[in-house]
Amino acid sequence: MARLLSRPVSAAIVIALFVAAMSGAVIGLVAWKAATARQSELAQRSAANENLAHSLAEQASHAIQSVDVAMSNIADTRPLQAADSERSRRRLSEIVERLPQIHAIAILDADGKTGTSSLADPVLPGDALASDLAYHRDRADRALHIFALRLAGQSGVGLSKRLSHADGSFAGVVVAIINTEHFSALYQSFQLGKRGSVSILRADGVVLMQSKPALSATASRHDLAPQPLPAPFTGTRKVVARDGGWRHYGYAHAPRYPIVVAVSQHDDDILQGWRDGLRSDIAVAALLLCCVVLLAALLTSQFRLRLSIERALRERETRYRLLADNIADVVMLLDRDAKFLYVSPSSQAVLGIEPRRPLGRCCFDFILPADIRSVRRAAARLTDATETRTALFRIVRGDRAQAWVEVNFKLAASGDPDGHEVVAVLRDVTERHKMEDELKALNFRLAELATTDGLTELANRRSMDDFLRLHFAAQDQLSLLLIDVDHFKRFNDRFGHQAGDACLTRIAKVLAEAAPAPGLAARYGGEEFAIILPGVAEPHAIRIAEAVRLTIAALAIAHPNGAATTVTVSIGIASKTKATASEEDLVRAADLAMYAAKRGGRNRSVASSSLPDDESGVVPLNRLISAG
Ligand code: GH3
Ligand code: MG
Ligand code: MG
Repeated sequence: MARLLSRPVSAAIVIALFVAAMSGAVIGLVAWKAATARQSELAQRSAANENLAHSLAEQASHAIQSVDVAMSNIADTRPLQAADSERSRRRLSEIVERLPQIHAIAILDADGKTGTSSLADPVLPGDALASDLAYHRDRADRALHIFALRLAGQSGVGLSKRLSHADGSFAGVVVAIINTEHFSALYQSFQLGKRGSVSILRADGVVLMQSKPALSATASRHDLAPQPLPAPFTGTRKVVARDGGWRHYGYAHAPRYPIVVAVSQHDDDILQGWRDGLRSDIAVAALLLCCVVLLAALLTSQFRLRLSIERALRERETRYRLLADNIADVVMLLDRDAKFLYVSPSSQAVLGIEPRRPLGRCCFDFILPADIRSVRRAAARLTDATETRTALFRIVRGDRAQAWVEVNFKLAASGDPDGHEVVAVLRDVTERHKMEDELKALNFRLAELATTDGLTELANRRSMDDFLRLHFAAQDQLSLLLIDVDHFKRFNDRFGHQAGDACLTRIAKVLAEAAPAPGLAARYGGEEFAIILPGVAEPHAIRIAEAVRLTIAALAIAHPNGAATTVTVSIGIASKTKATASEEDLVRAADLAMYAAKRGGRNRSVASSSLPDDESGVVPLNRLISAG
């Protein structure tokens, strides 16, 4: 049983059971209520009918008793004179007038002939009363005899009393005919339904009268008493009705006289109110059942919806777990205090850290102290759940080695109203970081190579051109020095190319020192160099040129021109003037000045401004700035 209860039950079975239980409860309740209400209604009405029968039996007894007294008076006071006199007829008429329950009263002689009658025209033939006469003839007592009277197809109730001669012999009877209308009018005033009736019958079952004759009696016997009723002639009884169904009797014996009053109702009439109630109960039950069915339909749809949501959630969770378990990244969930709530199993493979180890610990325990500040800064910027932040930092792996990791993290809504949880996806980027460092170094080197002369480590021609273009456009004052080594071919030829390179390197060093930032020393090409001096006017440039020339000379690098000869340079100086249209013009002017220096005998500086306008190249000696 316990196993059966613990098994999941399908929604359809639960709902079917619910509908069956609710329907059973509603139908059972209605049926139970109907059955008890029916029983109670029938019992109540039977009891009420019995009470009514008691009252009516009392009333009938009183009515008969009045007649009985009047008839006893007649029997006592009237001597049996055969002659009918007007006086005695009037006396009978007075009795009839006084007692409305009597239709007529008459005195019959021993042969059944009417002696005196309250009616002018006697209607009581002696043969109709033959059995009654016989009844009294054989009995000496003067007890009231009650009998059913059948006259010309009509029925009535007759009361008779024995008249005796002085010697006690039978002298005739005094007969009263009861006015049945008197009783019927009363009986019909009771609400007994279409098929309800009130009957008066003799204790031996002979019907005396009933309010609706066709309903419950044959000509002589009553349904209630096909056999003589047992004493005490009072109670309730249920009898099959002639027209089907049941007839419910309440009956009571009249005191003093052997008559029984029976009040009957057909169960169709009794149950009319009960049926109306049942109909409304059924309507309410039908409404309730409709509600149950609607509720069941609603529950079914809710069950289905819930099942589909649960299925979708399960599938989604499975998918997410599959992803979290199998991706190369580590998925983590942290609470608002930066403590780990969840770490995906991939942390073992990625970081060498068993996934349960970090749970409950602060994430900063795993971060290299030097990187904690930058991580805190990135976390502090995380204020919006729609944003994702990225942090690159180092952590200590499970094997105590350092690893560079890149973590994308964002706020995730949680059930905690005071704060958010943080979802983080971690990736080990140690290799990538190493490659990036190498690439950075390479790029730096490449950039260096692209702008630097490989032999002298001065700026190369291209970066010199860029520098010059930039500063020519930006500076009003700009000077350019072009420096050419004198008779360097001979140096090479004599000492070899390597020595030439070494000589060029030493000269380049002098030039670099002579042109600190923002100036630039560059290798212009071959054994020619340049110095660009932003913000420097010609006089200052001339001084720098001279300093350079003299410093190089002071290097005292032996030159094959002669024993006392050293390596020297010739320098052309050009400064930007209003007439200088472009940087090319400036270079050209410096170049001309440099060639002028060569022509002037080398080891000297010549300013472009000192050259003749025709650029013939003839430089008067007195205009030379310097000479070696
Ligand atoms: P001038 O005084 O008129 O300038 O005479 P010069 O010999 O210096 O001029 P020329 O143009 O005739 O010769 C330049 C020489 O510079 C030729 C070449 O071998 C040498 N040279 C150019 N570049 C390099 C270099 O990178 N290394 C070495 N060792 N020599 C170079
Ligand atoms: Mg040259
Ligand atoms: Mg030269």
